[in-house]
Order: sequence, then structure tokens, then C-alpha cells
Amino acid sequence: MGRIVSIGECMGELSETGTPGTLNMGFAGDTLNTAYYLRRSLGPDWQVDYVTAIGTDGLSQRMLDFLKAEDIGTHHIAQLADKTIGLYYITLKDGERSFTYWRSDSAAKKLASDPAALARALDGADLAYWSGITLAILSNQDRLALIEALSQFAGRGGTVVFDPNLRPRLWDNPESMRGWIHRAAAVSDLCLPSFEDEATWFDDADPEATIKRYLAEGARRVVVKNGAGYVTFAGSNGEISTSAIPPVEQVVDTTAAGDSFNAGYLAAELAGASVADAITAGARLAANVIGARGALVPDAVRPS
Ligand code: AMP
Repeated sequence: MGRIVSIGECMGELSETGTPGTLNMGFAGDTLNTAYYLRRSLGPDWQVDYVTAIGTDGLSQRMLDFLKAEDIGTHHIAQLADKTIGLYYITLKDGERSFTYWRSDSAAKKLASDPAALARALDGADLAYWSGITLAILSNQDRLALIEALSQFAGRGGTVVFDPNLRPRLWDNPESMRGWIHRAAAVSDLCLPSFEDEATWFDDADPEATIKRYLAEGARRVVVKNGAGYVTFAGSNGEISTSAIPPVEQVVDTTAAGDSFNAGYLAAELAGASVADAITAGARLAANVIGARGALVPDAVRPS
């Protein structure tokens, strides 16, 4: 029996249906997307818990019900009486999606404000998964508390996995983002950046430059995703390998491409796959996810 803890923000998702006056209601968020695909990829000998904060209102309860229905553990989700969940709205125009967010006062911003609760959530877990978005939404004090909790978890032998998921709009300024992302990498065994973001915000010339930077900051292993391009891997000895990914017939919507890749990769690695096979598993899952609309695609996990 193993246990994974995914830490971050899940939001309500409102999307236009094409029928005036009706909206679809769903739930998504980078770390939740990965938890969802991990839960569907792993057998019953793995428990997947989500760690966040929500409100006590009806909408928050709907999210809790959704997570429970997906068999994602909710025991470590804090419920705060004076807050509610963040929301986003997807507008569809000529097939293009644009997003409007209401998340500046979401309950999830408090997910690390109780260090004792964080320690309880991590206690006895095998792997903790978090992202640059998890870090971005917190106060400086809570960022330090979360980094400290994960550092202690790693010190006890836990595996910390981090997707930088660079979103400058969530940070005060790019400099602050860069500094905190590197602090996060320093406590993470495995970093899973996406090259396009890294090139934009860290000026990396190629995936090898991204790898060198994260290894220099203290990450032990790095897997660099690169859209339809090669995935590049490096272990702590600095040895670099590249893997081509299977071609995708039709890209419908790249939402959650990276999140689902991470889940496919991790699930394969936890089952004992080699790095090359884990990359293929991640790319296969991502291909199924981007072949359909939305972040959570129920039939994306298929037997290989
Ligand atoms: P990204 O975060 O955009 O680099 O993408 C994460 C993963 O999703 C990649 O490593 C691929 O496995 C998959 N992916 C994203 N975009 C594409 C694409 N256009 N064609 C094929 N696979 C893609």
C-alpha cells in the first residue's frame, strides 16, 4: 500500500455549452488534474489524497463530493467557514478558449497556514506532488512553511515531485517567481518543467539548459516536457537522455497536457518502469487528454 499526496488549488470550472442560458459545471486545477489521472492510472494498492482548503458552503461541498466520487482522499482538506473555492469561466469564441478567473480570495490560498495539519497530511506518505501554482497562491510565510514541511518529508525519505508550472500573473513580479521556483526545486527530488515556459521566463536556450539550472538548484532528477518535441531527462549524475514521443493524430485542446503527462510518468515509474518507458506512458496519457476537450477526460487512461 502506498500513498500519494497532491497539494494545491482545485477550482470550479464554468464553461459555455453553446446553448444560451446553460453552463457546464466542473472542477479542475493543475495539481488536482494530476491527482485525478494518478488515481485512474494506479491500482487500489495506492491511495491518492488531495490537500487543499475549501469553504463550508454548498459549492465547496460539491467539490468535496466530486473528489470523493473520484476516489480521491479528502481527509486532509481544510474547511474554512469564511472562504470559498476559486472559480474560472471558459468563453468559447471561434473554437478558441479564453479564461476569466475569480481566485484572488480563494480558500486554497490558506492551504499551508496550519503547519501541524500539513505535517499530518504528509505523515506516512510516499510521494508528495506540488507545483509552482501551489506556491504562487500562498503568502510568503506560508510558502516558507510548505517548503519546510516538504523538506522535512524529504528528510524522512519521502519523494517530492514538483512541476514549476510558471504563471507570472499569479506572482507579484517575475523576479519573485524565479526566486521561489528555485527554492522549491531545492527540496524536490524530481522536477517536471515545460520547456516553453522555462525558455520564456528563465531565458533557457534549450532543454539541457533547463536541466542544468534545476540540478544546480538542488533537484535530483529533471524531466523537461516540450510540447510535440523530445522529452529530455537527466539524473543526478547529470547524464542526459532524450525520448521521442508518439505522434498525436489530432490536438483538440492542450489543457492539462503537462498535468496528465506527469501523472502517466509517475504512475509508470511507481510501477517499476524505466525512465524511457515512463516518458512514453506520460506522453500516451497526455496524447489522449489533448485529443479531447477539457482538463479531465474520463476515458483518457486506457490499457496499453
Ligand atoms: P507541454 O507541457 O506543453 O510541454 O506538454 C506536456 C506533454 O504533453 C508533452 O511532453 C507531450 O507528451 C504532450 N503534448 C503537448 N502538446 C503536444 C502536441 N502538440 N503534440 C503531441 N503531444 C503534445
